[in-house]
Amino acid sequence: MTRKILVLPGDGIGPEITAQASRVLAACQAQGLDVEVAEAPVGGAAYDAEGSPLPEGTLAKARAADAVLLGAVGGPKWDKLEDISKRPEKGLLGLRKELGLFGNLRPALLYPQLAEASSLKPELVAGLDIMIVRELTGGIYFGQPRGIEERDGQRVGYNTYVYSEAEIERIGRVAFEMAQKRGKKLCSVDKANVLEVTMLWREVMERLAPEYPDVALSHMYVDNAAMQLVRAPKQFDVVVTGNMFGDILSDAAAMLTGSIGMLPSASLNESGQGMYEPCHGSAPDIAGQGLANPLATILSVAMMLRYSLGEPALAERIEAAVGKVLDDGLRTADIAAEGERSVSTSEMGDAVLAAF
Ligand code: ATP
Ligand code: MG
Repeated sequence: MTRKILVLPGDGIGPEITAQASRVLAACQAQGLDVEVAEAPVGGAAYDAEGSPLPEGTLAKARAADAVLLGAVGGPKWDKLEDISKRPEKGLLGLRKELGLFGNLRPALLYPQLAEASSLKPELVAGLDIMIVRELTGGIYFGQPRGIEERDGQRVGYNTYVYSEAEIERIGRVAFEMAQKRGKKLCSVDKANVLEVTMLWREVMERLAPEYPDVALSHMYVDNAAMQLVRAPKQFDVVVTGNMFGDILSDAAAMLTGSIGMLPSASLNESGQGMYEPCHGSAPDIAGQGLANPLATILSVAMMLRYSLGEPALAERIEAAVGKVLDDGLRTADIAAEGERSVSTSEMGDAVLAAF
């Protein structure tokens, strides 16, 4: 059965990096991967063309796809749009919500070839390999009621932090299963000493634990987790947490690797359909110059093959090709050492294809 992949290039460096990832997809097709690849606009590009950051046509194609590959959205051109619902970022939030992408997988992996790029001491980060599992469609970013209103003569802002048992359980299962496939250690991050919603979170994680007897479950308060992540990051294997804590911790974990241009991500729903995208943003400062590192997006294709298309062997081939080009010393500017020669976005794509 031919499966459908939708590519959403988006804004800034998005079109440049997805172009290289699409070449890798085409190479997989040449190896027998039976997929149909289409493209659609999203974000600021879609707003400019059709007046909406998530046009109906794009949403319909995304719903019909087995997997979506997204570049990045946003940029200074749209930051001042009065109508917030038209901002590029709303296109991304809309896609997550509409596709029910509740499970966000963000690996923080240090490539040994890039160990010097990390801002931390080499012995702290050598061999770092963490998987952060972040709940993506609930928590304080989506809770009702929310707003800014007048109370007793001054304005107050408020949001509501809500999780149901069912929401906690489904993200918990994703994390336990991930831990089973990896180092069998799961750390659940909450603030159960202060927030009732995370007391429930902790309770549900504990309740699931006996079903995964091979996984060692631990708990950490988010403030301590932030400290531990910087102090001794290698103690973590899989981390599971809510939407906001996950947002912050996964950015911190990404920076530990020193290479934002190298990190892919996956967002999955209950039927295994997924959206795949680099962890970084649209990098407007370098857009259109051929400077962007396409490896995070290429590695997102590998995650897509593994998690939505059931093609782990092809995923491994892509990851091996990336390892090979790093071994060969190819570097885009973001991962090059000072004074080291760097290659362009498309030259990096060429090299990955040659190594594939
Ligand atoms: P967002 O708000 O969309 O999460 P951001 O504006 O916080 O994103 P990025 O767009 O990720 O941040 O850019 C942060 C910095 O990292 C910029 O200097 C950018 O040029 C650089 N950067 C991001 N992605 C890449 C990449 N693929 N290759 C090279 N440099 C990158
Ligand atoms: Mg930004």
